[in-house]
Amino acid sequence: MKKSLIWIGILIISLAACQHKQSKTPPSGPEKKDSTVKVIAKIYDYPKNQFLITKDTIAPNDTFGKILSNFHLPYSTIYQITQKIKDNFDVKNIKTGRPYVLLSKQDSLDSLPRPKVFIYQQDPIHYTVIDFQDSVKVWHKTKKITKKRKTAYVNIQKSLYQDIADHHLSPKLAMELNNIYAWTVDFFHLNKGDSFKVIYDDIYIDDTTYVGIGPIYAAEFNYGNRPFYAFRYPTDTIHQIFDYFDEEGRTLRKQFLKAPLKFGRISSRYNLRRFIKYYGRIKPHLGTDFAAPTGTPIMSTANGTIIKKGYTSGNGNYIKIRHNATYSTQYLHMSRFAKGIHVGSVVKQGEIIGYVGSTGHASGPHVCYRFWKNGRQVDALKEKMPPAKPIDSTLLPQYLEYIKPYQKQLDSIL
Ligand SMILES: [Zn+2]
Repeated sequence: MKKSLIWIGILIISLAACQHKQSKTPPSGPEKKDSTVKVIAKIYDYPKNQFLITKDTIAPNDTFGKILSNFHLPYSTIYQITQKIKDNFDVKNIKTGRPYVLLSKQDSLDSLPRPKVFIYQQDPIHYTVIDFQDSVKVWHKTKKITKKRKTAYVNIQKSLYQDIADHHLSPKLAMELNNIYAWTVDFFHLNKGDSFKVIYDDIYIDDTTYVGIGPIYAAEFNYGNRPFYAFRYPTDTIHQIFDYFDEEGRTLRKQFLKAPLKFGRISSRYNLRRFIKYYGRIKPHLGTDFAAPTGTPIMSTANGTIIKKGYTSGNGNYIKIRHNATYSTQYLHMSRFAKGIHVGSVVKQGEIIGYVGSTGHASGPHVCYRFWKNGRQVDALKEKMPPAKPIDSTLLPQYLEYIKPYQKQLDSIL
């Protein structure tokens, strides 16, 4: 009997302790909705009905002290507060334009309401609560973030940015797609009818306020009637580094192939001071010559769009490919072009565009490979390229398994 009384006693004390703790610390996260419990409206976890609420933004020349003194808090109290919180929050860091909330309360019936809690919102997600109801406390808090999975399909009619805006999608999608496909899609030369599908998250705070999009998990860009898949996958799980790979685990950050031929040999290098006996003078060689038998397939060294296909007396049959805003490549002296290659054709890295020959000024069968960077011809063999590694072969089965549902979902978006 006595024992059970003690138990009840402990229970009451622990309940009281809980209660006490709760009144001091605003609970984190929203209250669970329960139809049997009367839900008290709250502002930043404080019951609304207990405070006078002032919502405003930090004005130019506003200071923490000025705001509080405008609400009749004595300077000595303000000074004490700033001193007590200075290790956790420097009040000088409040920035013009950021929202804040002031919760005030009357100390007695005949007194003015005075500030008790100052809440500063440094960005849409993070906020700081300075509570000086009795002792001074400061908390740095994060709003509850909810992610809602979203898919989108956009058919390009005007431009990437315009069409994304017309579909009421975040402009950040365009930026993300630009980054993912920088080496695959030439965004300056999109065609009407190119399209893309994406899977990503819309991010909300407190379930209601839209703050933007999360990373793109998977995408399919139909560019020049060819699908280009991209899947986000961690290359370093410890440091949370992600990269995008295609449906076979190849990187989308394409390095250029070292040569436009699978076999052959370098017969002449890029040389600005090449002396040509025939002319009796220096004539720079702006390309790299790869000698190979007539008919050897010539490959595009990176994904791109054919921008020139033609014949000149010097170049012979040649093709020029634009890869992105920075790089283009050119292939000279072809015996013939590959089938289906036209100006405007989208080609993938390694795709055959023509065949070795000796048309134009060529002493023997070779391809003169020219590398353009920002409109100037540079030495392809000396150009430093970003590293571009595929998924490690040991991780490939795991990767292919991981992308399956994404690929399936992409294919089902209409
Ligand atoms: Zn050459």
